[in-house]
Amino acid sequence: MKIVAANTDLCVNHSEAYSKVKGAYSLWFAAYDNLTRDDFLKRLVVLPETGDRAREVVRFLIHNPERWK
Ligand SMILES: [Zn+2]
Repeated sequence: MKIVAANTDLCVNHSEAYSKVKGAYSLWFAAYDNLTRDDFLKRLVVLPETGDRAREVVRFLIHNPERWK
């Protein structure tokens, strides 16, 4: 996986996964109290149902939190 400078540089598959991850956060945020982005990403990355691309995006966001826009 190659993710460079801006969100627009994500390939189609990974931008799709990125949108899904962000969509999932909105749902989780509504469902759990005080869920931080960090908690969310760490939970998501270990879920068996998280797809490979989503997991790559999640790992990327854990290491580059400033890229969450
Ligand atoms: Zn990609």
